[in-house]
Amino acid sequence: MSLHNLHNLCYRITQYKICEVKFCCRFKASPYFEHNLTSDLCSLQTSLIQRFQSTLVVAEHNNEKLTPITLNAITAAGKLGGEVSCLVAGTDCAKVAEELSKVQGVKKVLVAQHDCYKGGLPEELTPLVLATQKQFNFTHICAGASAFGKNLLPRVAAKLDVAPISDIIEIKTPDTFVRTIYAGNAVSTVKCNDPVKVFTVRGTSFEAAATDGGSAASETVATAPAVGVSEWLEQNLTKSDRPELTSAKVVVSGGRGLKSGENFKLLYDLADKLNAAVGASRAAVDAGYVPNDMQVGQTGKIVAPELYIAVGISGAIQHLAGMKDSKTIVAINKDPEAPIFQVADYGLVADLFKAVPEMTEALK
Ligand SMILES: Cc1cc2nc3c(=O)[nH]c(=O)nc-3n(C[C@H](O)[C@H](O)[C@H](O)COP(=O)(O)OP(=O)(O)OC[C@H]3O[C@@H](n4cnc5c(N)ncnc54)[C@H](O)[C@@H]3O)c2cc1C
Repeated sequence: MSLHNLHNLCYRITQYKICEVKFCCRFKASPYFEHNLTSDLCSLQTSLIQRFQSTLVVAEHNNEKLTPITLNAITAAGKLGGEVSCLVAGTDCAKVAEELSKVQGVKKVLVAQHDCYKGGLPEELTPLVLATQKQFNFTHICAGASAFGKNLLPRVAAKLDVAPISDIIEIKTPDTFVRTIYAGNAVSTVKCNDPVKVFTVRGTSFEAAATDGGSAASETVATAPAVGVSEWLEQNLTKSDRPELTSAKVVVSGGRGLKSGENFKLLYDLADKLNAAVGASRAAVDAGYVPNDMQVGQTGKIVAPELYIAVGISGAIQHLAGMKDSKTIVAINKDPEAPIFQVADYGLVADLFKAVPEMTEALK
């Protein structure tokens, strides 16, 4: 290694706030020694870079409970190294702050309560995130890639004049992220040179952080004045005893092959036996068989359960984009050439109207 290169390395290290770096080495050392010195310096640099990261995770919740994808975002934030703080903004969210303070890996919980945070509107939350960023100078800001995160973080990024990185599936280094493109058919590695990295996290790509064992400190942050350009009126949520689609361990999904909304009863009966959530292809949603919050795929929800059972679904790439990371895939289709069989671990070439009731009966 030349003296010049060593200087460069030292300079890069000192950029990360090391005041004094002492090297005890002879510059005319053997190539073996030089190699070791270079790799030691590089790993020192990596660990220093990681140590000086600080990440803000914007928590998604309903004032009562944390939305599970926030736990996946916390795991992703932990991979950056450095401290992880969570921002909880709501109207009466003390319970959520308490829940978050026990989550492993969270160092600080920042709490902001104001009526204008009702419904988590991005117009109201953005000034709060910006003010929090100004106060704490985070190197990264993230949230789950849910409707909440996808709504909020691009706005935050625009206001910070940085490029948002959406739906990441892996973190290579604190500035390099992996995400899928072309409906999951290609993987893109993105290096971000912005001073603050703003990104959303695909929940199915990171384990959920443990909900106990943590002991984060809580701190109240000043609320920004209400913007008032939008108002949250109400939301009507589908009530269901079944598990939520994106976090269910088993998902049974139906496609156009079901032929009607009434026939989805066959899938509900099977799902009840398996404690499964029920999903659908876009064709089934577009045909009005089921509501669109059940859609799995590129323009629907991304799921990665232990078991995914696709019934009467052909396996278009846009559908596969939402479920191909499932641990075990079972397909039931009467067409042996259906593309779904190419990704299925178990395929049953059969008429669904015969096979599904038989499966349900066998589980009784
Ligand atoms: C931009 C874009 C985004 C999209 N996003 C999504 C998305 O998010 N999710 C999504 O799913 N699609 C999406 N699509 C649509 C996608 O391309 C397909 O059209 C759709 O997935 C097809 O749904 P399907 O498999 O239910 O229907 P079909 O392709 O019509 O397949 C029906 C299947 O049922 C089988 N079948 C019929 N009767 C029976 C029976 N009695 N027993 C057993 N099998 C039977 C048939 O053999 C067939 O394979 C998108 C398309 C575009 C262009």
